[in-house]
Amino acid sequence: MPEFTVSWPTLWIIPDWIEAHVVVPDRAAQGDPLELYDWQLFVLANHYRIKDGAEPDPRREQVASKFYYRRSQIVMPQKSGKGPFAAAQTIAEAIGPTVFIGWSRGGEVYRCRDYGCDCGWSYAYEVGEPMAEPRRAPLIQLLATSEDQVDNVYRPLQAMLKLGPIADRSDVRVGEGFIRLPNMGRIDVVTSSAQSRLGNPITFAVQDETQLYTKTNKMLKVAQTMRRGLSGMSGRAIETTNAWDPSEGSTAQQTAQANSPDVFRFHPMAPAALSFKNKAERRKIYRVVYAGSTHIDFDAIDAEVAELMRTDPAQAERFFGNRIVSGSDSWIDPADWAACESPRVIKDGTSIVLGFDGSDVDDWSAIRAETTDGYQFTPTYGPSKRPTVWNPADFGGQTPRLEISAAVDEVFKRYRVIRMYCDPPYWETEVDQWAEKHGDKKVVRWLTRRPAQMHDAAERLKTDITRADPDSPSFTHDACPFAAEHVGHARAAARPAERYVLVKPSDAQKIDVCVTSILAHEAAGDVRAAGLAKSKKTYLYSA
Ligand SMILES: [Zn+2]
Repeated sequence: MPEFTVSWPTLWIIPDWIEAHVVVPDRAAQGDPLELYDWQLFVLANHYRIKDGAEPDPRREQVASKFYYRRSQIVMPQKSGKGPFAAAQTIAEAIGPTVFIGWSRGGEVYRCRDYGCDCGWSYAYEVGEPMAEPRRAPLIQLLATSEDQVDNVYRPLQAMLKLGPIADRSDVRVGEGFIRLPNMGRIDVVTSSAQSRLGNPITFAVQDETQLYTKTNKMLKVAQTMRRGLSGMSGRAIETTNAWDPSEGSTAQQTAQANSPDVFRFHPMAPAALSFKNKAERRKIYRVVYAGSTHIDFDAIDAEVAELMRTDPAQAERFFGNRIVSGSDSWIDPADWAACESPRVIKDGTSIVLGFDGSDVDDWSAIRAETTDGYQFTPTYGPSKRPTVWNPADFGGQTPRLEISAAVDEVFKRYRVIRMYCDPPYWETEVDQWAEKHGDKKVVRWLTRRPAQMHDAAERLKTDITRADPDSPSFTHDACPFAAEHVGHARAAARPAERYVLVKPSDAQKIDVCVTSILAHEAAGDVRAAGLAKSKKTYLYSA
C-alpha cells in the first residue's frame, strides 16, 4: 500500500523488539507472538522518526528533541486494534529501546542481555540506522475517563506482560493498580476519579479515547496537566481516539484543529462523496479506514453498524466510518452535497445571481454566486484572488466592511449580475449603497429571519441537491471548502407548521456560507421563473 511508505530515519528496532517481546493478549491466539498490523508499523515509524543529523544527548536526558514529532494522535475506528497497540507501545517505552543513542557505523548489535532481559534476543543494525537503548527510569501514565475505559489499554498490557517472555523478569511486576518497572520506574493509571499522580514528571503517556475528554467532565484540563508532566523528563505521548463529535470541543478535536507540525496525526478517511447510509458505499469506506488492519471481518462490523444506525447513526459513522460528524443529523448529508461537485471555469461577463449574508463581529460573511443554469461558486476578488468568504478572526476580530464592499463592486464589474439577495441586518447602510450603485431592481433585501420564506428557500436547494438526476443535474457547484463545511454544519430545527429553520450545532460551527448558498439558489430560481435568465444569449449577442 503506497500510503505506508517510509522514507525517513526511524527506530526500526522498536517494532522488531515489540514482536519479540509482546504476545497476543486475548482470544484464540492468546500468548502467540504479536504481529503488528501495517498501520501500526506506519504509526511507529512516524512516532520514532529521528531528525536528520540528530546528535544523541551524552547524558540521555534531552530525549524528545531528537525526534521529528513531539507526540502522535491516532484516530482509528472501533476494532482496529488501538488498545492493544497502545499497550504494546507502552511496553516498548517501559523496557524497550526508545532512547536514541546515535547512528550505526555497521556491526553494532543490540543484545537484550545487556539491558536486563535474558530472552536471548538481539538486533543487528544496518549502516546508517539510528540506534537506541531503554529509558533508565521509565515513568509512564495511562489516562482514561473511567476505570472501565482504562481497561482498553491496561487489560491487554497486563496480559502481554504476564503471558510473554517479560514474565521471567524479576524487575517487572504486574500489580492490580500499577506496574513496577526497573530502577523505581512504574506505569500508573490516571482517571477522572484517580488523580493522585497527575502532574508528576513522566517519560511517556497514553491518552486513550480523547474524544471523550471535554470541558464538562474536566478531562481537557487533566490531559493538559499530564502533558505538562512530560516536558520536565523530555517525555513523549500518544493519543488514541475515535472520530469526535465536532460540537463537543474535546481534546481529540483540539489536537486536530491545532494542526501543529510537531504532532504526527494518523486519521485515515474515505472520500466525502461516499455515503455512510448506503450499505455498498459503507464497504468502500471500511476498506479505506481499516486499511492495514488485516484481521477485520467487514460482515461482522457491518452487522454492528446496521444495529447502531437505527438508534444513533452519527455515532455509527464516527465509530466505524472514522468521520467527524455531529450528534444530530445535518440538514443536507455531506455526501449529497459532495455528489454535486463539478468545478468549472466561469468566464467574466457571464450572467449570474448572488447571495450575501453579512455579520458584524462573530459570524462569518460571504458571497456565493450562481449561473442561470444552476452552477454555484464562490467568486474571488482582489489581486490575490481571495474567495468572498470572511472570517472576522482573520481580520483582527472585525468584519472587514470596506473590503467586502470593494469585493461586491468587483463582482458586479466582472460578471453580468442579474440579481443579488442580501440579508440586511447589520448591513442596512451598505445594502442601500449597493442598490444605489448597481440598481435597486438587482440588489434586493431578502430577510432570512422570515420563517416561511426561509424554509421554502432551504427546501428548494435541498430538493435540487437530493433529488438530482445524475444525468442532467439542476444544481452543481465548485467544491468550495467553506461551503462544504458550513453546509455540513447546518442543522434543521423544527418550527410550527411543519417548517424548520437552519441553526448551527455549536458556536464554533458556522453556517453563514450555507445561508448565502440558499440565497443565491433562491435568486437563481426567481429570475428563471421571471424569465430574466433567458436574456443571457441576447446579452452575449448584443455585447
Ligand atoms: Zn529480550
